[in-house]
Amino acid sequence: MGEGFGIDHLPYGVFSTRGSAPRVGVRYADTVVDVSTVRPQLDRPALNDFMALGPEAWAETRSDIAGQVEAGALPAFPADEVALHLPFTVGDYVDFYASLHHASNVGRIFRPDQEPLLPNWRHLPVGYHGRGGTVVVSGTPVVRPCGQRKGPHESAPTYGPSRRLDIEAELGFVIGVGSELGSRIGVDELQDHVFGVVGLNDWSARDIQAWEYVPLGPFLGKSFATSVSAWVTPLAALAAARTELPEQDPAPLPYLAGGHALDVDVAVVLDGDVVSRPPYRTMYWSPAQMLAHLTVNGASTRTGDLFASGTISGPEPDTRGSFLELSWGGKEPFAGGRTFLEDGDEVVLRYSAPGTGGGRITLGEVAGRIEPALP
Ligand code: MN
Repeated sequence: MGEGFGIDHLPYGVFSTRGSAPRVGVRYADTVVDVSTVRPQLDRPALNDFMALGPEAWAETRSDIAGQVEAGALPAFPADEVALHLPFTVGDYVDFYASLHHASNVGRIFRPDQEPLLPNWRHLPVGYHGRGGTVVVSGTPVVRPCGQRKGPHESAPTYGPSRRLDIEAELGFVIGVGSELGSRIGVDELQDHVFGVVGLNDWSARDIQAWEYVPLGPFLGKSFATSVSAWVTPLAALAAARTELPEQDPAPLPYLAGGHALDVDVAVVLDGDVVSRPPYRTMYWSPAQMLAHLTVNGASTRTGDLFASGTISGPEPDTRGSFLELSWGGKEPFAGGRTFLEDGDEVVLRYSAPGTGGGRITLGEVAGRIEPALP
């Protein structure tokens, strides 16, 4: 259980033990180490005050914590005996659409007679503003949403529980240091602003989404819940996972020229079985390009803002990051007859990457079980 949580990782989370106040800890092997005494900003029920300190303080604190963990100088609790909380107070939430394979698959499924990619897709990282207040921590049950649904052959919408509930396997990027209204974050400034990375499942009601999204984009089909891991992996722990982006053609405009991919492997686990293995390194747009684009108009960012990559899908059928793609729009059942999520299903997203110590690190998992719709 402690594999991938060595001294080269030390992800941050917020935990409590019975009767105690939530505070910051790091995951180390099979334990959660209480780091609330290392800095006053860590004796808090959210990471925000610590994240706002900036990269120098992050690096210094990480080094302090590593030393104290190795010396056994801090209290540690068995990881399965603590409660984990949402690790940071979420500000604004943006979701991108950065996988070429995902965007192409969705285009082929929904617009079979047209070019799979819309004309803007290779010129900018497409995204939408989501709902920060419904971001929940891994383990939180997901109630099947109700809403308006209209099938392609129905003349009018009906109201009821979503019949096409889906996942989107993604990575999320957490802003530590914000930026002023009227300023921009350059494509080479990611590490000055982004504190770390979380696993993220963008639960999606495809039938609600398909009826509502024209012309302003996703709304109630997405906003009922977005799950993130309880552990935030510091960007520094992913230094060995940095890799080249796939070729971008046409070349991006100058404000978008730069950034790198991350070699993070994802596994989608449905009721205990791995049904897909999306590779993050195949993503077309880099996190740095997403952040540069998000702020190019002068939009401000704040500590706790979260931006997500969009569904991670690789080129092969068994690397697709949504059930929409795995079942090809519900027409080709996978994993022994599955299409979309059923009540009682549990989905766990697992993530791993090369660590700086030569082995692999395990990013925080994202789990959620589907509960029946409200009556
Ligand atoms: Mn998404």
